[in-house]
Amino acid sequence: MILVTGGAGYIGSHCVLSLLKKGEEVVVFDSLVTGHIETIETLKQYGKLKFVRGNLQNLSEILEVFENNDVTSVVHFAAFSQVGESVKDPQKYYYNNVYGTLNLLNAMLQHNVKKIVFSSTAATYGEPEYTPIDEKHPQNPINPYGSSKLMIEKILDDYDKAYGLKSVRLRYFNVAGADSESIVGEWHDPETHLIPNILKSTFSGGKPFAMFGDDYDTKDGTCVRDYINVEDLVCAHLLALDYLNSNGATTYYNLGTNDGNTVKEVFSSCELVTGKDIPVEIKARREGDPAVLVADNSKAKKELGWSPEKTLEQSIKSAYAWEVKRH
Ligand code: UDP
Repeated sequence: MILVTGGAGYIGSHCVLSLLKKGEEVVVFDSLVTGHIETIETLKQYGKLKFVRGNLQNLSEILEVFENNDVTSVVHFAAFSQVGESVKDPQKYYYNNVYGTLNLLNAMLQHNVKKIVFSSTAATYGEPEYTPIDEKHPQNPINPYGSSKLMIEKILDDYDKAYGLKSVRLRYFNVAGADSESIVGEWHDPETHLIPNILKSTFSGGKPFAMFGDDYDTKDGTCVRDYINVEDLVCAHLLALDYLNSNGATTYYNLGTNDGNTVKEVFSSCELVTGKDIPVEIKARREGDPAVLVADNSKAKKELGWSPEKTLEQSIKSAYAWEVKRH
């Protein structure tokens, strides 16, 4: 059985769906602080899924999951992930993300479970020194969210050396889209991400889309990001589990497409997909946004045999289908 922490959240729910469709038995552990019970109800229709509501900050709650289930490996998504909030309230991020993970690892070691796929982030690299960013790029996060994820990466290295716990850390770039059948999708409250925010402005009563800065040193003045489709991203998690199951060593991979799009390009693509003129307001730059963030994904391609296939347009189409369904 595979334990998925944070399985009621955006990326976690897509991973659970793929695992269930593959015939895996899954137990989801989620506090439902940012995840949704409706997502779990939906996912239950797709296979053998058990749900435990609990918080990683309580060791006894996660220990109980290992006591009651035959967990063989873990995919660990549960975390707070808003950069701005992490700057205002770092304690919330270090307690939840770092301390919560320490409890999870404690429970794993007590039950001799030694395989974990961990959601890390491009935010561990900080301000890029060069792009595309490969895994050799220095990791100097510029906010507590990125720092909390980097701390966990370091803990995972030390736990491997000392206890033989094997991990694959997946450093996500900008995750986008929803599953192609609109079974699950992106559902954050408040929503801070680009594509859902643009799409929200297409619905009646929606506020104009706020574009944060058009004076960056890029081809059209707006930030460049590497948008990786959530289904492609999830494929890498399944490959990482296979890799660990065949006794792979601890490692880490960038998950992105090797290609970037500006905010204006994403916006135009949203207008094309929805067939609507979307109201927009140019606002000041958002603090902490680097001009360009693009992944070099060759390590994951070479070693995991992973290859992202979906285009930005496909991600926007699936995200829009999901938003329409939600409205
Ligand atoms: N962005 C924007 N308006 C929004 C949300 C995001 O202009 O409502 C911009 C943001 O400044 C960045 C890009 O879109 O340049 C991607 O931001 P997002 O929050 O989706 O992901 P991040 O790069 O912060 O992980």
